Amino acid sequence: MPRNTQSTILVTGGAGFLGFHLCRRLLADGHRVICLDDLSSGPREHVQHFLDHPAYSFIEHDVREPIALQVDQIYNLACPASPTAYQADPIKTNLTSVLGARNMLDLACSTGARMVHSSTSEVYGDPLVHPQPESYWGNVDIVGPRACYDEGKRCAEALIADYRRMRGVDCRVARIFNTYGPGMREDDGRVVSTFVVEALQNRDVTVQGDGSHTRSMCYVDDLVEGLIRMMAVEPAPSGPLNLGNPDEISVLDFARRVLEATGSRSRLVFLAEAVDDPHVRRPDISRATFELGWVPRVALDAGLARTIDYFRGRSATASLSQRLDGDRAAPATGEVTPEPAE
Ligand code: NAD
Ligand code: UDP
Repeated sequence: MPRNTQSTILVTGGAGFLGFHLCRRLLADGHRVICLDDLSSGPREHVQHFLDHPAYSFIEHDVREPIALQVDQIYNLACPASPTAYQADPIKTNLTSVLGARNMLDLACSTGARMVHSSTSEVYGDPLVHPQPESYWGNVDIVGPRACYDEGKRCAEALIADYRRMRGVDCRVARIFNTYGPGMREDDGRVVSTFVVEALQNRDVTVQGDGSHTRSMCYVDDLVEGLIRMMAVEPAPSGPLNLGNPDEISVLDFARRVLEATGSRSRLVFLAEAVDDPHVRRPDISRATFELGWVPRVALDAGLARTIDYFRGRSATASLSQRLDGDRAAPATGEVTPEPAE
């Protein structure tokens, strides 16, 4: 899409971690942004940050309820993403995924809007295929504590596939892998924010299990770029696309990386393993690279340094703008991980 074409873009979950960064990018690109959120896991501060912007508006609304709006594009991000948050009210989580997708698909039908839906690597469950290509059908515990999220997201994908086939809706699906960066809530329980905050406060760094589980961490700016390309690409992608950074690391090595980068005096402590925690996770991004020309560029050390700066600023009670400007001003050195996946 040319940068000078102003669209009206709905971002559900726009107060959350990814939604906030996406709204920021869309406003910078000159669009009108409507942020829809019930503020259940996204902080109000992420809305207040933009309220003076003439092209930004906010609707406090639960995506499980239908809504009528005139929009050109929809990014459907509303859903808690941290295991702690999505397991706190599992019935709401499941219905947010399914009814939220249904309501946004109906809105796309009535307006002719194009839609990008945020699915997740959790559709692969505890994967038996590694790394995970989009063709893998997954290994999910249907009734376990993560099922509210995993199965909700899988059902949303099934619904989208049928709306595409039956009603011709142009909805693209991003299967997002672990993403981190400034703007995460320090108390949301995900590994990056938890370890960084624990290390900065010289508290015990809490590894769940023996630390051998792996994740592949994508810096938030790379992920947002992937979402924007997914919305813009013509023709529509052939199916759901993985978006994530294939640079895989064990949780234990990640904890050590955080201790080193923060200069912390924290100890590592080992807690019980979380139930149904996927043992490995790494995206095969060859399709996203081929179809979107997309590859993540920010290496873990550079992204982690920016994230640590952000949380340091939080403890110094800097404003959100100051902490984010610090993030923008971070040097570009060491950022590039230029190797596309095979
Ligand atoms: P987040 O919890 O920070 O943001 C989610 C936002 O959705 C919050 O602002 C929350 O208040 C809002 N929300 C939740 N339920 C709602 C409802 N019923 N109605 C309206 N708003 C509601 O999570 P995030 O990390 O920003 O993730 C955004 C999306 O990306 C989610 O759909 C998530 O499943 C997906 N995703 C994220 C990651 C990641 O690593 N961040 C990985 C995979 C998938
Ligand atoms: N984890 C951990 N300590 C924490 C939070 C998470 O050891 O305080 C581990 C968790 O068990 C998992 C990995 O880090 O193996 C990633 O967890 P996270 O909650 O960030 O996201 P997930 O990928 O499980 O959705």
